[in-house]
Amino acid sequence: MYKIHATNDFSELRYLQSLLDAKHIEYLTKDEHLMGLGAAAGQVPAHRCPMEVYIVRQDQLETAKKLVRRATAKVSIVLESWTCSHCGEELEGQFSACWKCSTYRYQPKGPNGPTTSDAAGPKRKAGPGATEKAG
Ligand SMILES: [Zn+2]
Repeated sequence: MYKIHATNDFSELRYLQSLLDAKHIEYLTKDEHLMGLGAAAGQVPAHRCPMEVYIVRQDQLETAKKLVRRATAKVSIVLESWTCSHCGEELEGQFSACWKCSTYRYQPKGPNGPTTSDAAGPKRKAGPGATEKAG
C-alpha cells in the first residue's frame, strides 16, 4: 500500500475519494481512532484525527497523486502587492489602504461625485408644446 495523503479535512477527503472513484482507483482510508481501537468510537473529535489515504496498486499511484494535488488545491486569489502613492510604503495586496498614511489604494474617481446618466451629445427639444414644422 502506498500512502498518498493525510488530512483532517473531511470534506477534502470526500472530494479526493470521489476523484479516486471516478478514475476507478483502488484505495483505502483509515483514521487514527480506527487504528488505535479501545476507546469508544465517537469519543474523539473528528478534527483531531488525520485521515490517511492509501493506494493499493502501484500503477495507479501517479494518477492518484495528481488527484491529491487537485483535491488539495485551494482556490485562492493572490492579490498583488502595491506601493502607496503618497508615502511610498509597500503594502500587501489584501490591504485596501496604506497603514501608514491611510491613503486608499484606489482613489475615488473624479471630484464631481457620482455622475448621473445624462446622455452626451446634442439633445432634441421635444417638449409638450413643440411642434414639428414640415419644411
Ligand atoms: Zn502611505
